[in-house]
Amino acid sequence: MVQQPFGSIYSAFLASVERHPHKPAFELGDGATVTYADLLVDAQRIAHLLTQAGVTSGDRVACHVKKSVRAVAAYIAVLQIGGIYLPLNPAYTGTELQYFLDDAEPVAVVVDPVDAAAVRDMTPDAAIFTLDAQGMGTLAASETKRIEAAAVTDDDPAAILYTSGTTGRSKGAVLTHGNLASNCQALLEAWEYTDQDRLIHALPIFHIHGLFVAINMSLAAGATMLWMEGFDVDGIVDRFDTATVLMGVPTFYTRLLASDRLNREAVSNMRLFISGSAPLRTADFKAFEERTGHQILERYGMTETGMNTTNPYRGERRPGSVGQALPGVEVLVVDPKTAEPLPAGQIGSIEVRGPNVFDRYWRNPDKTREEQRDNGFFITGDQGYYDADGYLHISGRSKDMIISGGYNVYPKEVEQLLDEHPQVLESAVIGVPHADLGKALSPCSSQPMAQHRRIPN
Ligand code: AMP
Repeated sequence: MVQQPFGSIYSAFLASVERHPHKPAFELGDGATVTYADLLVDAQRIAHLLTQAGVTSGDRVACHVKKSVRAVAAYIAVLQIGGIYLPLNPAYTGTELQYFLDDAEPVAVVVDPVDAAAVRDMTPDAAIFTLDAQGMGTLAASETKRIEAAAVTDDDPAAILYTSGTTGRSKGAVLTHGNLASNCQALLEAWEYTDQDRLIHALPIFHIHGLFVAINMSLAAGATMLWMEGFDVDGIVDRFDTATVLMGVPTFYTRLLASDRLNREAVSNMRLFISGSAPLRTADFKAFEERTGHQILERYGMTETGMNTTNPYRGERRPGSVGQALPGVEVLVVDPKTAEPLPAGQIGSIEVRGPNVFDRYWRNPDKTREEQRDNGFFITGDQGYYDADGYLHISGRSKDMIISGGYNVYPKEVEQLLDEHPQVLESAVIGVPHADLGKALSPCSSQPMAQHRRIPN
């Protein structure tokens, strides 16, 4: 079903509330539900609180909290009042957190109660609200008062997300209301996501995947999210019966495959499994298809651009490929020096242009200029190639390129080969100094499953 154009994520959410106020926006683990109307009331209450604290259009509101439905209400509230939402990984500690707070200068900070005193010291001028994983704290304590939604344009900033950045300090990517809305709409259409969908939401909500892909799409479509605090194999399998879509990182699928509860019958209600944020192993794509009959749909995106490409919902999903550009988005593979598009099969710099591409790096015009070409294309820092059928393949990051004896070596390609070995679960290839070649390759060996604790977001 093709959705009608909508103005902003907030207005699309309001339309969902109007369409079906009593429908659950969230189903929680204990069987409780939060309806669209409940969510609106909570968001308006928080909008009122923030406004009273002095937050107005263009002000940053940082959220350094654990995953909760009320944290989503806070996100909606910030959109409503025209503020700039700044989600921060709750795992950030002292100096990291201080850096983000100093850089973004939020007018208000929503923080887990255990961190409140420290954050108050770090940002003496900001209004501090508390919110714990159960949704309790000072952010919960106020009466409802309806306030008008701020008038925002597509070009107004909606959020700042700090990039994970492997080198140097993290940069804040400023995303506009237009960025979020256009990308959401393109994905709704590409994946035929509607209010009939029931999404298993097990991703963190401080990252584009869990926030802007999963939550924006669900709120705009009027779908229901089966809410999980985090990833757990049995929790996911338990929800398959009543769900239709799962969005995950590749590790979700590796771990699901290790469960003997994963089979065709278990997923008979599911229509779509989506993977992204990191490369999905071809072996997992194939094993998943054998076990469940489903081809995992892999897509590619990043903080600065939202989603860029996707494998087709209808049509061939190609393992090892991230598919084709979303409607309205241009994705080129170019020679990094000349910016000229390269023919199929040749690895080059992946560059993106479209309404999804962020506005700028927060207070960092030099970096913004460095990564933007004159013709408006954003240099993603990823490298890849188009195959003969126009499917994009990612080879690695430009920073990851290893020049060995004058040859460019892409770690991803070597890793793929290593991963094909039956005794290798996962590998990482790095460049090490070499007297003769300048750099040589060093594989870091795989680890047994039990040691893979951290799930990337
Ligand atoms: P982040 O900004 O943290 O979301 O990281 C974005 C980066 O993740 C991209 O620039 C890619 O390097 C990588 N990435 C995202 N999706 C994929 C994918 N499907 N396959 C390979 N790499 C991916």
